[in-house]
Amino acid sequence: MTHEILTAGSLKAIPLPIPHEGSKDERGSALVLGGSRSVPGAALLAGIAALRVGAGKLKIATVGSAASGMGLAVPEAMVVGLPETPEGGVDGARASDDLLKVTKGCDALLVGPGLVEEGPTAKLAVDLLEALPDARFVLDAAAICGLAQHAGDVRRHGERVLITPHAGEMAQLLDRGREEVEADPLDAASEAAALLGTVVVMKGAQTWIVSPQGARWLYEGGGVGLATSGSGDVLAGLVVGLLARGLAPMAAALWGVFLHGQAGKRLAATVGPVGFLARELSGEVPRLLRQAA
Ligand code: AMP
Ligand code: MG
Repeated sequence: MTHEILTAGSLKAIPLPIPHEGSKDERGSALVLGGSRSVPGAALLAGIAALRVGAGKLKIATVGSAASGMGLAVPEAMVVGLPETPEGGVDGARASDDLLKVTKGCDALLVGPGLVEEGPTAKLAVDLLEALPDARFVLDAAAICGLAQHAGDVRRHGERVLITPHAGEMAQLLDRGREEVEADPLDAASEAAALLGTVVVMKGAQTWIVSPQGARWLYEGGGVGLATSGSGDVLAGLVVGLLARGLAPMAAALWGVFLHGQAGKRLAATVGPVGFLARELSGEVPRLLRQAA
């Protein structure tokens, strides 16, 4: 089966239908549920990316021990501290009341970056899918690995969800070896899209974006410098920001992957091919959006 190549030219067919006018409410409200005691910054990276791609409002829900630091580090966000497990992750069972309150009115949610417990995180993601029938979702990292157990529930909501696994997370989702996923990432992405009924962004040096309806796009990569800690958290944040701005999952996936890759290319040119930081990617995005407009 053929596939499209994701380039600036091919994206002309999928223009960014997002206005730059109006109030912040019109540019949507994004929520990032992520961070743990040992990896609190993942939620920060994702949240800032959502704002840099133009989302109007940002909430971050994270473990209680990280919340006040997060509030100071991201003064633009409303931050909610959640009950914590002894291991320093979000305690899904005890957090659910707080989460229902804080997620109310959110247009798009990202669940996963920096969360540590895979089974409970997938369950939490599915509970939120059920509770928020009008919101769109990005599931990343720990929210992906245990998702196969909930495949039927995810499929019922699949058209408003996308997942952003790297090869290791995809291997856990499909219960395959990582090498098997790396040998044929398109096959893995297609199987995951069929299993969950969601758009799948299969990340790597090359990234495949696949829909359950059979669309297949290949992004040839933004350069090796993107293989750096926190890079995927920025990508997931860009995508949730685009969802908050009203893009459908496939369009948000394509634009998110493209903007992330272009930001990597710009930093490679100005800083160097490796050694730029994931946190520097988001700052490139407003200029890239202006070029794309
Ligand atoms: P994560 O592993 O979740 O931090 O995500 C890593 C991000 O960097 C994904 O968007 C990958 O597609 C991208 N990436 C990883 N390795 C490479 C590479 N060698 N060349 C280009 N992009 C890469
Ligand atoms: Mg990641």
